[in-house]
Amino acid sequence: MRPFDYLEPETLDEALALLADDPDDTLVMAGGTAIVILMKQDLIRPARVIGLRRIAPLRAIGATDEGLRLGALATHGALARSPEVRGHAAALASTFAAVATVRIREQATLGGNLAHADPAQDPPVTLLALDGVAVARSKTRARRIPLDALFVDLFETSLEPDELLVAVELPRLPVGARATYKKFLPATLDDYATVSVAAVVATDATGACTHARIALGGAGPVPLRARAAERSLLRRRLDDAAIREAAALAAAATDPIDDLRGSAEYKRAMAGVWTARALREVA
Ligand SMILES: Cc1cc2nc3c(=O)[nH]c(=O)nc-3n(C[C@H](O)[C@H](O)[C@H](O)COP(=O)(O)OP(=O)(O)OC[C@H]3O[C@@H](n4cnc5c(N)ncnc54)[C@H](O)[C@@H]3O)c2cc1C
Repeated sequence: MRPFDYLEPETLDEALALLADDPDDTLVMAGGTAIVILMKQDLIRPARVIGLRRIAPLRAIGATDEGLRLGALATHGALARSPEVRGHAAALASTFAAVATVRIREQATLGGNLAHADPAQDPPVTLLALDGVAVARSKTRARRIPLDALFVDLFETSLEPDELLVAVELPRLPVGARATYKKFLPATLDDYATVSVAAVVATDATGACTHARIALGGAGPVPLRARAAERSLLRRRLDDAAIREAAALAAAATDPIDDLRGSAEYKRAMAGVWTARALREVA
């Protein structure tokens, strides 16, 4: 690895001030699980690295008046074990538990995961289906970014170079909503998903669908919402015909690439299969 200056601020304000000094030549590091690999491969060569791990308040996970707030430095392991996360949606806790291996989960953070913007990652998919909003801060600004506006392209987000992710906020779910996350892992259990699907639905007393969210991972350059599929379910009973139609629309919304985990055609077909499985479960 090339030499670089390493700074470890104790507070968020200190970190934001350091970042504002030289945003284009500075890299922030949380758990380091994604970024250290890229540095060792010499794909990125930061002059300065700001380690975030001492900023303890960014690890907080807690209920708010509107729903749930997840600190950007919370690890996947802490999030998987959190009673607050499980209370909000058990599917969210199991999404964090589905990331990689225990070693990665105890080191890697939510903020690092979202900022890394690999479309095959797990948490963004469920967080999108739960209408998650990223909270970003710079030295001079604070803004809230709906997650589907955070992911711009492969490994690219709408964060500015002087911004840090500080949290993700989730609104309370509609009463009676049911959620699931399905990670299709045909190779090994610690792999990235070939495709993944999160589905959230709520129905009224007649069984008609009043709320539908379907999000997919590994199915395009960014984690994506299958909006036409969601719309097709509204005001309908979640019977087999409705589920099959929505699954076909979800598959049509994908734009996967050929890679080691399968051809684009295979992944598109699997997106349909796993969307149908997810919807049957929540129905
Ligand atoms: C072997 C292995 C297997 C993996 N398997 C999976 C898997 O199955 N599922 C999955 O979802 N992921 C997987 N990952 C990816 C990894 O879990 C995520 O990339 C991880 O969450 C990154 O978090 P981190 O804290 O380590 O990020 P870091 O490596 O520290 O940083 C990643 C990027 O985010 C930026 N960053 C970090 N924190 C912030 C912040 N607060 N604000 C702004 N930018 C920030 C960094 O500058 C960098 O660009 C795997 C990684 C490895 C090494």
